[in-house]
Amino acid sequence: MSDHSKKTVIITGGSRGIGRSVCLSFAGAGTNIYFNYFSPVNPAAEEALAVETEKLISDAGGFAKGISVNVASENEVSSFFEQVINETGRIDVLINNAGITRDGLLIRMKERDWDDVMDVNLKGAFICTKIAAKTMIKQRFGRIINMASVVGVTGNPGQANYVSSKAGIIGLTKAVAKELAPRGITVNAVAPGYIETEMTASLPKKAQEAMMQQIPLGRAGKPEDVAAVVAFLASDQAAYITGQVIHVSGGMYI
Ligand code: NAP
Repeated sequence: MSDHSKKTVIITGGSRGIGRSVCLSFAGAGTNIYFNYFSPVNPAAEEALAVETEKLISDAGGFAKGISVNVASENEVSSFFEQVINETGRIDVLINNAGITRDGLLIRMKERDWDDVMDVNLKGAFICTKIAAKTMIKQRFGRIINMASVVGVTGNPGQANYVSSKAGIIGLTKAVAKELAPRGITVNAVAPGYIETEMTASLPKKAQEAMMQQIPLGRAGKPEDVAAVVAFLASDQAAYITGQVIHVSGGMYI
């Protein structure tokens, strides 16, 4: 979309999956694309994925920089965003996409699994939003898009931590939308359904089949289905939309 040109966009969790597709949706428009990723378990493999995202964007004629930053660390996010401002002078769009799952039945769920999911999915979005908002308020312009999930509205067994984090994201979206609207900043959420990424590929076959049964459009979503809606919400055409949750789920929630 041409109206993204000269904008600075930050995408959390952009090395793969939906985040990579979102990065690509901004490529080629003269946009400064910054994304992060974070995997302490296998840093080399994650860095290779990030380099691949950067290359896909430069092949499409765009500019992107990927940096290993944990969204759950206020210090790390702070220096990352400071670097972006030093290099481009702005933060126009923030997409809070980074997310993890640690599934399990409630009675067996470890406190650690609850905390990890909340830290990345909800606290991470809070930290990034808080830091980016300071710059956006000075600019009197900004677009914040949060990645929720259909299960944040419908609930899902075996995902008490994840569902709570995504319901929290919806609350965060609505509260911050009201708070920042007078400063020219819109805040919306996108709620994907069952999208083909590594996150869903790791689900047991039975759970994948059960998900497919719940999709009226009869197919799993693709990362591009979600990225197109994110790009729209970031565009000038979406200037009058704020505080909304847009479901991209093939009708899983109607
Ligand atoms: P994914 O393929 O697992 O990718 C997750 C991304 O988040 C990766 O880039 C990962 O980086 C990054 N990340 C994880 N922990 C991080 C941290 N602490 N700090 C910074 N980055 C971190 O996931 P996805 O399926 O694309 O999902 C993207 C978002 O959509 C998530 O918020 C997810 O909850 C939501 N969503 C997905 C679906 C679905 O069906 N796939 C449905 C509804 C909602 P590394 O590569 O370094 O690990």
